[in-house]
Amino acid sequence: MKAVVTGGAGFIGSHLVERLLETESTVTIIDNLSTGRIDNIKKFASSIEFIEQDLSLPGKWQKEIAKSDVVFHLASLADIVPSIENPSLYYSSNVTSTLNIAEAAKANSTKVVYAASSSCYGIPDQYPTKENAEIRTEYPYAMTKRLGEELIIHWGKVYKFPVVSTRFFNVYGTKSRTSGTYGAVLGIFLAQKLAGKPYTVVGDGTQTRDFTYVTDIVDGLIQVCHKNITSDIFNLGSGQTYSINKLVSLLGGEVVYIPKRPGEPNVTHADISKAKKYFDYSPSISLEEGIRNVLDNIDYWRDAPVWTPESIAEATQAWFKELG
Ligand code: UDP
Repeated sequence: MKAVVTGGAGFIGSHLVERLLETESTVTIIDNLSTGRIDNIKKFASSIEFIEQDLSLPGKWQKEIAKSDVVFHLASLADIVPSIENPSLYYSSNVTSTLNIAEAAKANSTKVVYAASSSCYGIPDQYPTKENAEIRTEYPYAMTKRLGEELIIHWGKVYKFPVVSTRFFNVYGTKSRTSGTYGAVLGIFLAQKLAGKPYTVVGDGTQTRDFTYVTDIVDGLIQVCHKNITSDIFNLGSGQTYSINKLVSLLGGEVVYIPKRPGEPNVTHADISKAKKYFDYSPSISLEEGIRNVLDNIDYWRDAPVWTPESIAEATQAWFKELG
């Protein structure tokens, strides 16, 4: 199989590339290294093609997709606050780029596996949440990921190439991003642990998340890619939920409490029965095991920013101002 992985130098992408190389695949990574890191792929650098490219600009890189059997489109900007501060950047990174991928895929009916976000459900009516739940995007990151999903599915239908969209739930694991922006909870807590600072727990920490270990997501992506599925959407989560207090107890250490933010769900919980039925998706890594793996590799977060209640209050000003 000839595969392209956009965002292949990033957190989830680099795990996916590693797995693809264990099978018969040849892999080309397209990544602009805005949040991805060469370090993430150096172990297998000699076995891949690497194209450093901004996907929001059409170009020769699209030929690479036209020549491939599948493109896993994982490249995107993440995080809530910068998406509120700079929505046009998020639009070009997450929507225009997806348009360029779609245009490349239609040339030779390359299969597209799109990485969507469970943030499209906002605060849903039902838990666990199924794929047919109402779309309730709360902020530009969620909206641009959803627009990309609609766009790629529409292009696939009109121009007749296979598209599968997978909605990720709270993915964590080794190599999760440690760039400057205020991002996903685990990276924040690991940097605080290394610095001997208290964990900044939002609210009372009883809110729960469907924390999904990265290799379970990778399994799902590989499984869905090998099935003959056209134009469909699947949740990829663990199907379990764990509280932030549980996460803290596994990491060990002091906590400090910070205010709840507008629009944040109290629960995320994937209904994964559709993925189980269609491609035997069976996530197997418990939070306990996943956190053990991460703690074994905690040095990765050595240079990550250490957030404090004060710096978080400053960094999340736009969140409270625009969504409050
Ligand atoms: N969270 C926290 N402290 C932080 C950052 C996040 O307690 O410094 C909580 C947050 O309130 C949420 C959970 O961790 O309940 C997951 O947050 P993240 O931003 O990783 O994912 P999302 O809220 O988008 O699911």
